[in-house]
Amino acid sequence: MHFPKRGYMSTSRFCLAFLLILTLTATVFGQSVTVSSSLATSGGVVAADQTKEAAKLSHFDPDLVDKTLDPCNDFYKYACNKWLTANPIPPDQAFWSTGSGLQLWNENLLRETLEASSADDPKRTAVQKQIGDYWAACMDESGIEAAGLKPLQPELDRIAALKSKKEITVEIAHLHHRYPGAWQGGDNQSNSAFFGFTGSQDFDDASKVVAAIDQGGLSLPNRDFYLNTDEKSVEILKKYRAHLQKMFALAGESEAQATADAGVVIELETALAKAQMDNVKRRDPKNINNKMSLAQVRELTPSIDWDAYLKAVKAPASEHYIVTSPDFFRAEEKLLQEHPLEHWKTYMRWQVIHSSAPYLNKAMLDENFDFFAHTLAGAEQERPRWRRCVAAADHDLGEALGQAYVDRAFPPESKARTIQMVHAIEQALTGDIQSLSWMSAATKQQAVIKLKGIEDKIGYPARWQDYSSVKITRDSYLNNVSQATSREFERWVAKVGKPVDRAEWTMTPPTINAYYDPQLNTINFPAGILQPPFFDPSKDDAVNFGAVGMVIGHEIIHGFDDQGRKFDAHGNLRDWWTADDGKQYDERGKCISDEYTQDVPEAGEGVKQNGLLTQGEDTADNGGIHLALNATAAALKAQGKSLDDKGPDGWTYRQRFFLSYAYSWCANVRPEIARLAVTTDPHSLPVFRIDNVVSNMPEFAQAFGCKAGQKMVRANACRVW
Ligand SMILES: [Zn+2]
Repeated sequence: MHFPKRGYMSTSRFCLAFLLILTLTATVFGQSVTVSSSLATSGGVVAADQTKEAAKLSHFDPDLVDKTLDPCNDFYKYACNKWLTANPIPPDQAFWSTGSGLQLWNENLLRETLEASSADDPKRTAVQKQIGDYWAACMDESGIEAAGLKPLQPELDRIAALKSKKEITVEIAHLHHRYPGAWQGGDNQSNSAFFGFTGSQDFDDASKVVAAIDQGGLSLPNRDFYLNTDEKSVEILKKYRAHLQKMFALAGESEAQATADAGVVIELETALAKAQMDNVKRRDPKNINNKMSLAQVRELTPSIDWDAYLKAVKAPASEHYIVTSPDFFRAEEKLLQEHPLEHWKTYMRWQVIHSSAPYLNKAMLDENFDFFAHTLAGAEQERPRWRRCVAAADHDLGEALGQAYVDRAFPPESKARTIQMVHAIEQALTGDIQSLSWMSAATKQQAVIKLKGIEDKIGYPARWQDYSSVKITRDSYLNNVSQATSREFERWVAKVGKPVDRAEWTMTPPTINAYYDPQLNTINFPAGILQPPFFDPSKDDAVNFGAVGMVIGHEIIHGFDDQGRKFDAHGNLRDWWTADDGKQYDERGKCISDEYTQDVPEAGEGVKQNGLLTQGEDTADNGGIHLALNATAAALKAQGKSLDDKGPDGWTYRQRFFLSYAYSWCANVRPEIARLAVTTDPHSLPVFRIDNVVSNMPEFAQAFGCKAGQKMVRANACRVW
């Protein structure tokens, strides 16, 4: 486990199968995904045109404002209605946003690089050979079809050969090593097989990396999918059972066996789900900061042979072990004792089948799509293969592939202008901190120290990761993925006991997202998001601060949201607030979480958002927009202008700022993925990221002349930063 990096948009931590098929919720309520508005008809099926020609970048366009609507009633609709009507969701997508053209544009660029590198030419550089051969193997559909389930067989044979429960541990290590679905890097390993294991900065001393053991075991996105009893949840679980049956049958089991095995997997995963700490409790780092000695870890789960595991994964000795959820391991121990070896073999077979499915033949792929992308997220068709291969290459060899992206798409001028904007927004936060009436001088001083300690990372890493140990061949896609997974797993485990490397990134350069890392105290903006409609060199400051400036402000505020504020400038979990200021903060935070605990009709009747889950992101949205607006005012002042002067197109700069903010979030969203997001995602849906935020701001009311009593003027407006 790694403490959550606070991203700008959703990042699907669950199920790589889902990820590869759907591009990944990763950018869901951010932006991601395909195609311009043009739809092409092919063979009677409406298919999205995903060619390079269709990959149009969206540029802010105030002509898209729907002037028949009232901005003070529903600003999101006012800014987005025309766009939403003109841009229906393509059948292979779960949502469709103004960032979707950028996603497709990025992917087409990566595709060109991959294709150009894929010819078996001895003159290729080592990086070209690696990414090119990876691409060739992934695109070789006929070879993958011909191989059928052969790549799976040795793995199923390994499990069949296990003779005692004692041998399970080494097989867990093997699964973690080899399968992207069985070991989930990043900040939440709830979907790793049995449990998660990784190197992680210590909470109390961020200069050290220790071993962290996290809860895990699930295949559905989180514990709620097993435990909720509402009608929709019960229906999804029923469909999951049918999916398990079909997958076991596709892997060669008899119908009776497949049915029985599906039951075993549901039983075990449900028991593990019950034992898991929920995602709201996990948001408080104190709840997961449980230090143990190796002896205590051994005692916690004697059925797991930790010495064998640590040896098998080549884990360096750790000063202590962070066990995020001791209760989970107590329950898992009991389950390991109670259930026979055969049940665990079934569970592990499922891990292998499920984790391999995205890289296998069409029958497996289609069934995997049907449940994880169609049932769970609402997509009606698979994305084209090339897009899935681009996403996989970005995931597995991202910093090799990303070098060419940076060369082609991120000129030094873009970097220089982004850095200027970051500095302007940091300056705005310095001013904001000084002006707060509710914070004491002592806490203000500490806050400024933390702000000054943030490192700004823009575009791409200063030093690229080396993938030379990954053995890529042109003839086995699954094996290539496993090779890359092994290297990534080993890279994380090898951090234990080594000095912290602040220069590393956890997002690849073409990613359309951004994040704050509380333990490194860094903000990180990949080149992928520093493009239109977020960053647009052709537009004025008001438009850029409204879009990417808001993203920058959002990430900086993560250092000061209800989680971030618990870490100091060095990334240590240390309370630097006076008791009274902490109380004042919590009151303001509660205003936000109450506001966002709301009905979400977009996700279905009776679905309610949990404002405690989204509190950090909502705080970052509300604070980030203030910083961006203040930075806009300062930039205009330096040009002798003000926010209320008329800019291009007859709108004031203040209006352009808010319209650009809303425009960067216009998104059509299928109800299935809206529901999925409400259950799993710490980010609010796009409509709330606009309407809730502006309704808290007198500055917005001023921009559009909104009056008390109108929907975009909240009576109990919340303000933290
Ligand atoms: Zn965020």
